[in-house]
Amino acid sequence: MNNKARPVVGIDLGTTNSAVAYIVNGKPKIIPSPQGQEIIPSVVLLDMQGKILVGDAAKASQVAMPDRVVAAVKRKMGSNEPVYMAEQAFSPQEISAMILRELKSYVDNAFGEGEKEAIITVPAYFTDEQRRATKQAGELAGFVVDRIVNEPTAAALAFGLEQLEEDKHILVYDLGGGTFDVSVVEMMSGILEVKASAGNNQLGGEDFDWLLVDWLASKIKKSHGIDPLKDIRAKSLLKEQAEKIKIELSSAEKTAIHLPLVMMKNNHPVGLSTEITRQDFVGLIEGMLTETVDCVRRAIADAKVDVSEIQEILLVGGSTRIPRVRELLTAFLGKEPRCDVNPDEAVALGAAVQAGLKSGELADSGLIITDVAPFSLGTSILGERQGIARNGLFSVIIPRNTTIPVTRTERFYTAMPGQTTVQIDIYQGEHELVKYNHSLGEFLLEDIPANYKDVEPIDITYRYNLNGILEVTAKCVSNDREATLTVHDALARDSKQQFVQSLDKLQALYENAPKEEIDEESEFDLSDFDIEDEEDEAGEASIEDLREEIGMLQGRLAAIMPDSNELQRRKIDKLKRRLEEAKLLENTADIQEIIDETTDLLIDLEMEDEE
Ligand code: ADP
Ligand code: MG
Repeated sequence: MNNKARPVVGIDLGTTNSAVAYIVNGKPKIIPSPQGQEIIPSVVLLDMQGKILVGDAAKASQVAMPDRVVAAVKRKMGSNEPVYMAEQAFSPQEISAMILRELKSYVDNAFGEGEKEAIITVPAYFTDEQRRATKQAGELAGFVVDRIVNEPTAAALAFGLEQLEEDKHILVYDLGGGTFDVSVVEMMSGILEVKASAGNNQLGGEDFDWLLVDWLASKIKKSHGIDPLKDIRAKSLLKEQAEKIKIELSSAEKTAIHLPLVMMKNNHPVGLSTEITRQDFVGLIEGMLTETVDCVRRAIADAKVDVSEIQEILLVGGSTRIPRVRELLTAFLGKEPRCDVNPDEAVALGAAVQAGLKSGELADSGLIITDVAPFSLGTSILGERQGIARNGLFSVIIPRNTTIPVTRTERFYTAMPGQTTVQIDIYQGEHELVKYNHSLGEFLLEDIPANYKDVEPIDITYRYNLNGILEVTAKCVSNDREATLTVHDALARDSKQQFVQSLDKLQALYENAPKEEIDEESEFDLSDFDIEDEEDEAGEASIEDLREEIGMLQGRLAAIMPDSNELQRRKIDKLKRRLEEAKLLENTADIQEIIDETTDLLIDLEMEDEE
């Protein structure tokens, strides 16, 4: 199959709901499930027969089988934290792969067999690791994935296609189930440019549900003297009811709550009958909504536009159906938001527009896409701070909110006479000290001519592309020697090995499911993947070496303990626990990761100790 015939679809892999779309006759359209659903819950169930179910069926089982169901896995993407389903551990990307595999079955239904490419969206605030985990989930599901797109950009695209002639600033406010993003997008002569983004990847409708759960639970506690949140089933039931109540309060001013059986106490049913007004509910969530407005203010400031220059407000995400959200935005921005784009579908439809641009289907649309860097990217330098020479200062090369793709070069100089090697450390973040930022990798530039008279200039170039992949090149100006690091590889060490393991695991899971349920055609086929063997296996530390290293780290922690203050002691305890966990692990990559992470934090603590 050649590239031309390969369909490219757009996918909104949401915390709460997911959808897939495609361009039909020049317009984006959702590809529905065989049952006709446009969006499906991002919920996965491993049922009693060992079968994986995704969507409504899984969501409906949350109360009855809470330990067999995984929801909101997107919040864990990029972490190594295992997710448990029926006592089996899965990585967050394995669970996401199951959701994507379900969407892929709709695509296969629509287009028949063969290779499919997917463009998957992520919140603007996703880090590189989270983006990579998302890409890997898509690949585990059997898609070709070479582009990850920010959700607000996609939403603006869904909106932008029909309004090409107008020049304006649009505010995209996306409040979903688990994440909040706001972006200022400028549209000018067919060019859609994201000027700035802000948000919070831990804020959304789920949080509103939980606030309501607490409210319900405290009522029950008051009248029955029992805490329903200690009972996992009662908690799940309250969560399910809370969402229903919340949704009702988007259209009704008040609603009656009638829950005859939440749990049992001494063989008697414990229930709740009461009423809640929209005002009560707004009281619970007002603080969070105010925080979103603060983000709106920040995005507008970062975009260097005035509030009055925002001509359109686009609402995305199911939680924007809450009337108070509209009220607050209208009050702050002085105009009504638009409601003509379906908030549930905008992101998937926009991803389909991206897909259409990529496949050539929309090549004539005249649209040009750019995006912004969600974090500042830079390097560690020796510099001056408050009059004192200091190591570990963060020198920004690509500032946050710079339009990407972008290439920036900055000139630095060797620090010592005769220096022939420099270490380039790559960081992402906003703090002036690199230790508070996120390390993305490091490499050496060697063979700098030993210069005892003067400093040697070194040009460092950061190349950041639309997929969030960073390439860093350091060049010695006097002799043209270069060294390059692509951050994609830097963090994904061992990921191929993990990828194959995950693939095997999923394949076994789907194969062991009851026979009649297996969809033969969409089974995983290892030969579809071009996987190179790990080459540097021999250079890897053995599990024994790693455990020895853990022992050394434990010794260092014990050494700083006596002189530490309360806060430091708490940090030390946490690191100790991490190391104990690491001792139990079998996978060397996971252990190495904990060691690296602990070593960094330990060095910080040791330095604090010296100060
Ligand atoms: P995500 O982008 O996180 O996948 P969605 O955009 O699909 O999320 O939004 C899902 C959230 O929207 C859920 O928390 C859901 O309860 C909420 N939601 C859906 N409809 C309404 C409504 N009418 N009123 C309030 N919240 C709603
Ligand atoms: Mg969303």
